[in-house]
Amino acid sequence: MIPADTPLPLALLIAGLAVTVIVALRYVLTSGLFALITARVRPGLYAGRARQIGREVRWSLLSAVVYGAPAGIVLWGWRRQDWTLLTADWASLPLWWHPVSVLLYLFVQDTCFYWSHRWMHRPRWFRIAHAVHHESRPPTAWTAMSFHPLEALTGAVVVPALVFLVPIHIATLGLVLTIATVMGVTNHMGWEMFPRRIVHSPLGQWLITASHHERHHEEYRCNYGLYFRFWDRLCGTDRGLSARIVAEAGHGAQAPVPAE
Ligand SMILES: [Zn+2]
Ligand SMILES: [Zn+2]
Repeated sequence: MIPADTPLPLALLIAGLAVTVIVALRYVLTSGLFALITARVRPGLYAGRARQIGREVRWSLLSAVVYGAPAGIVLWGWRRQDWTLLTADWASLPLWWHPVSVLLYLFVQDTCFYWSHRWMHRPRWFRIAHAVHHESRPPTAWTAMSFHPLEALTGAVVVPALVFLVPIHIATLGLVLTIATVMGVTNHMGWEMFPRRIVHSPLGQWLITASHHERHHEEYRCNYGLYFRFWDRLCGTDRGLSARIVAEAGHGAQAPVPAE
């Protein structure tokens, strides 16, 4: 806890640094866990990729600062100043709101990601902000936060802005951040962890897992979404799943979604 009489700039600096450390640890533990699982489930998938992984870890730790600083400041503002619509009181929000808030946060994150991601695929912005992420060919469990700081910033401001606009319980927000972390890591790890009955189900036609995001890393100008295929399908940028991952998962052929 930061003492109440700490000068404001110092308090914000401490809060930002504390959350940076938490985000960095969360990245190392989650990516490390799925890298270990990958070594068991797909031995040799990351063979000869030590240099790539080293680069991914360095960019990701820099991204932890970009994510941690605004989150720390907002968290401090909530505890000290009651700036935000975050709450720790379950009774202050109706029960039905909790699942709705999770979906709303994920949908807004997904929408911001889809449009900023498409924008970063314009040649000029690709070179400046997004080439770092696509240097991972193919990506690994360590690619999840491997972003140029400018790209990291476009993702880092969304949740800290949302907590001023959309009420949410702190534990529910923890669930949103856990989904974000796990999906970010597993969508890049190079193999499908979800069973065929989910990936190829009607629901799977609307959800993004590794099979879908891998195809973005293979072909670049398609499959821009983060969690849901809603925007990709609506805008004609959905090209379906990675043939390699589907074949390796033994999932068989998938009826492709028509592209634009
Ligand atoms: Zn990616
Ligand atoms: Zn991209």
